Amino acid sequence: MRNVESNRDEFIVAASAWLEANVPSRWRENRGALDEHESTQIRREWDACLFEGGYAGLSLPKVHGGQGLSMVEEVIFSELSARAQAPDGLARIGRILTAPTLIVHGNEAQLARYLPRLVNGDEIWCQGFSEPSAGSDLAGVTCTAKKVDGGYLVNGRKTWTSFARLADRCLLLALSLPGAPRYKNLSMFLLDMKQAGVRIEPIKQASGLSHFAEVIFEDAFVSDFDLVAMDGDGWKIAMTVLTNERGAVEAASRYVEIRADMDLLNSSLAGQAEHKLALEKLDIRIEMIRWQTSKVIDLDETSEEFNQATSILKLAWSELWQEISNLGITTAGPTDYRHWRFQYLETRAATIYSGSNEIQRNIISDRILGLPR
Ligand SMILES: Cc1cc2nc3c(=O)[nH]c(=O)nc-3n(C[C@H](O)[C@H](O)[C@H](O)COP(=O)(O)OP(=O)(O)OC[C@H]3O[C@@H](n4cnc5c(N)ncnc54)[C@H](O)[C@@H]3O)c2cc1C
Repeated sequence: MRNVESNRDEFIVAASAWLEANVPSRWRENRGALDEHESTQIRREWDACLFEGGYAGLSLPKVHGGQGLSMVEEVIFSELSARAQAPDGLARIGRILTAPTLIVHGNEAQLARYLPRLVNGDEIWCQGFSEPSAGSDLAGVTCTAKKVDGGYLVNGRKTWTSFARLADRCLLLALSLPGAPRYKNLSMFLLDMKQAGVRIEPIKQASGLSHFAEVIFEDAFVSDFDLVAMDGDGWKIAMTVLTNERGAVEAASRYVEIRADMDLLNSSLAGQAEHKLALEKLDIRIEMIRWQTSKVIDLDETSEEFNQATSILKLAWSELWQEISNLGITTAGPTDYRHWRFQYLETRAATIYSGSNEIQRNIISDRILGLPR
């Protein structure tokens, strides 16, 4: 594995050339026609390819297999990857959510055990937070982790768990101290998904894809080694996870996807006077997202300002993407109808995942505008 150039301009040139040479043409040209098996295989190979090329874990410490660069390189690479139509690797949740969370809250033994295998793509992670009656109200999770000799027994049900079928490990939020006050009664675990006590029931989405699943835990075991920080610290750790989930890396890759959809609309509706003003307004809003993303990169991730900025950003890109796909499907011709039908259905989820937009509005009105409850 070679080191990535530290100079930023050289980094952009090298990364662009590397992507050009390595993005699989089967994916770039045919990804809409690939079956799920082939698509999964390409995405798994892509994780290994990123690692070999020195582009996995760019902002993670070198000592744990990362590249020791900054969030800026991470965001630049995310944008270049989306532009080059690179596959979305399966290691995404591990690299974006588990790794930064363990760096803040995990111990040295956990970092040494999990980070190298997460960076090189050997271990796939999923995020077990939402439950049938605990989504926005995350503090209300009822999946239990009961203390037993050497660890905990987990029982309960998680839902909407992306990558569950493929995952080796789950970043699991569970109720471990049922008698303790709210926000002090949860713990975060690193649970082995490939054990008998874990049952997975895939959920089919409106678009026909099946990205997520229900996960049922029946006396699933998690060892003391895999408790993150202290029993009862789960809520605090979950907040770190959610901050990373709404961060600049996500926004940068979304920007390029939305930009590509906008370019398609601009060309298909070119010269149609009735759409000119709407297109111009949408186009300006896309570039505002890029500008806001560049501001977020410079903020301290542990600051309240970062939390506020990422809430605004998530709200902005998700609603804009839906508006663009709404215009796309209502104006589509025969050549691009399939694309817009898919995007229309897929983008419905954008205002729900990573914390629903109503919740982001609550955060903005409460923490930024200081409006009364
Ligand atoms: C594509 C996709 C992938 C996902 N992947 C994962 C994953 O990998 N792991 C995981 O744990 N979860 C995942 N989720 C779940 C996601 O985090 C939740 O769907 C989301 O947090 C909302 O929770 P809920 O579905 O339970 O809705 P609810 O919380 O029941 O909310 C229902 C509606 O009520 C609104 N609402 C709720 N509370 C309030 C309030 N206080 N004020 C105003 N409005 C409110 C919500 O905005 C929403 O419109 C995924 C979701 C999607 C769509």
